[in-house]
Amino acid sequence: MIPVMRPWFGPEEQTAVGEVIASGWVAQGPKVAEFERAFAASVQAGHGVAASSCTTALHLALVLAGVGPGDEVIVPSLSFIATANVVRYAGATPVFADIDPATGNLTAKTIDAVRTPRTRAVIVVHQAGVPADVEDIRAAHGGLALVEDAACAAGSTYRDRPVGAGAGLAAWSFHPRKLLTTGEGGMLTTDDPEQAARARRLREHGMSVSAADRHASGSSAPEEYTEVGFNYRMTDLQAAVGLVQLGRLPGMVARRRALAARYHELLAGIPGLAMVGDPEHGTTNYQSFWIALPGDFPMSRNELLVHLAGRGVSARRGIMAAHLEPAYAGVPAGELPHTEWLTRNSLILPLFHQMTEAEQDQVAEALHAAARA
Ligand SMILES: *Cc1c(COP(=O)(O)O)cnc(C)c1O
Repeated sequence: MIPVMRPWFGPEEQTAVGEVIASGWVAQGPKVAEFERAFAASVQAGHGVAASSCTTALHLALVLAGVGPGDEVIVPSLSFIATANVVRYAGATPVFADIDPATGNLTAKTIDAVRTPRTRAVIVVHQAGVPADVEDIRAAHGGLALVEDAACAAGSTYRDRPVGAGAGLAAWSFHPRKLLTTGEGGMLTTDDPEQAARARRLREHGMSVSAADRHASGSSAPEEYTEVGFNYRMTDLQAAVGLVQLGRLPGMVARRRALAARYHELLAGIPGLAMVGDPEHGTTNYQSFWIALPGDFPMSRNELLVHLAGRGVSARRGIMAAHLEPAYAGVPAGELPHTEWLTRNSLILPLFHQMTEAEQDQVAEALHAAARA
């Protein structure tokens, strides 16, 4: 079977992990600090605070934004469910907004439609790596805290800079379903040094001095716990992998974009088929290559998934919609027509660094056969 995604590792990652083990310090320490500096620099952010996942980094971002009980936070329903869940972790209420069907992203207008006096923040997702128009949203909704869910977007660009440059608070994922992976892992980036310092304390139980700093300084002064924090730390084992992977990121993005351009050519002949691509204001890293079927396609999306599996192609349903899941039953959701159309009619095709053109031809031929059925 041709998989949807496969991480790209070499012997360098194994060596890097081996060195951390040999050092005797495997928890959060100098490698995490090095990875934070390197990743923040790569997205032109002032500070990086590593976390155990993007989900925990998003939770930290909401705490830093002052979100709590009684607040509403606008999120796209069309996202991995963690985007909505973190609002619940903060004790606030997620409010689902619709998306632009061309990009899969929130817009200033779709936020407008659900904004109320209780709206405190908005989580803008760069869905599947496609940059959202955050400047336009910030201009229209200046009074709201804006958190960027950049889980999928390492290596994407927005207005000629990396996604995340100039972001107040942005959260990133290093899960293997994304480009750069540390197994599990995440990062919060911000330009605000005080927010970064507080995030460092919060991710480590609220400790005034990190365990690694105390060890390095040889100090025996007891630490203080200034507020209730969390254990959202990354390990040095993960960060060592992340540093190697960060060096691979430009190559991964270039390869994915070349394969995506090839998909656009190979599938252009299928009438009415919509495909993910670059928006006007930036470039995508093609974290996911999604297509959406026209109404008159000869089979349903789910039938097409079975058809592809029968031809050795592992595809996945398109991006989920949280408001349709049992966990969000009973949560009021307004009209979300574009979300519902895209989640029902889209699917994600295989795209990974090591994919060959022959494998890609096999995917395209299976799709053309379905279109002729
Ligand atoms: C993957 C993903 C997350 C969660 O990332 P983890 O690192 O697995 O916690 C959050 N939001 C979006 C949009 C994602 O795609």
